[in-house]
Amino acid sequence: MAPQGSLNTDNKPTLAPVVSLARGVEAPDTLRLTTALQTTLDLEQLLRIFSETVQDIVPHQGLTYRNDERRFVLAVGHTGRHHCSYRLNLLGSELGEVAMSRSKRFSEQDLAQIEYVLCALVYPLRNALHYRDALDAAHRDPLTGVGNRAALEDHLRREVTLARRHHQPLSLLVIDIDWFKQVNDRYGHAIGDAVLRAVAHVTQEGLRGDDLLFRFGGEEFVVLLRATPADGAAIVAERIRATIEAASCTCDGKDIKVTVSVGVATLREETGDSLFDRADHALYQAKQQGRNRVQSAQ
Ligand code: GH3
Ligand code: MG
Ligand code: MG
Repeated sequence: MAPQGSLNTDNKPTLAPVVSLARGVEAPDTLRLTTALQTTLDLEQLLRIFSETVQDIVPHQGLTYRNDERRFVLAVGHTGRHHCSYRLNLLGSELGEVAMSRSKRFSEQDLAQIEYVLCALVYPLRNALHYRDALDAAHRDPLTGVGNRAALEDHLRREVTLARRHHQPLSLLVIDIDWFKQVNDRYGHAIGDAVLRAVAHVTQEGLRGDDLLFRFGGEEFVVLLRATPADGAAIVAERIRATIEAASCTCDGKDIKVTVSVGVATLREETGDSLFDRADHALYQAKQQGRNRVQSAQ
């Protein structure tokens, strides 16, 4: 059986789900649930707490939450044969879909109870989604849409730890646009911005799905290459350099071409900061040697 529904809390008074009891849901359970859901803003934790706390009210084996807009899916527990799913909506905004499953059929009373407990989830879920959006915005460069310096710092720390734990190589590229000040001086800042967006786009297009791109500073980008040794990283760097050299950005009817210099380093027994510094030093050497080239760190 696969009952489906949608919970639209438009025009419902906020407190209604909390104070009114659905058939078979005891007041202490309701209080325990609403209190538990207020303990976190983290989306994943919230959904786990929800699934766990709701077990006493509607036993289930698995809970899946899916939010296509934010490309987020979380599955807790195991999938059972019978399932029910609800699309949650609050004041016209989609909050995603919650599905529960188990081996035993859901009765009408179970479904009424699920709808009841989902009402308690709606506001904490909305808050967790807002929190997630705020965190995401704080880690994204608004001009190019790639990760910003704060995101790089977080990822670099995490990737260095993971690379060591799994004995995998990790490489880092620092990419700097050559003579970029002249682009601004000649064409203006708005066109300079369009060129930055184009360089970010072309670079991203040339990377694998699990490579990570960041805008580190004004016209400097960093790429983290997971599971990539020095020779592979040099190949990726050269491909990025050549693609940018061949591309042109058409802005205001003008074809603008830029080149980049790239410094490459691969993790040794060192910190993430030291890895970055070595790649940055290699970049400096590439600039010294005439620009539009790739230099690997010693
Ligand atoms: P080099 O080849 O040595 O890297 O020369 P360069 O001109 O690229 O380097 P420099 O560091 O002298 O200049 C970087 C310029 O990047 C300065 C500034 O005009 C420009 N810039 C930095 N941030 C932005 C931005 O957000 N938008 C635009 N349009 N330009 C920026
Ligand atoms: Mg620079
Ligand atoms: Mg530059």
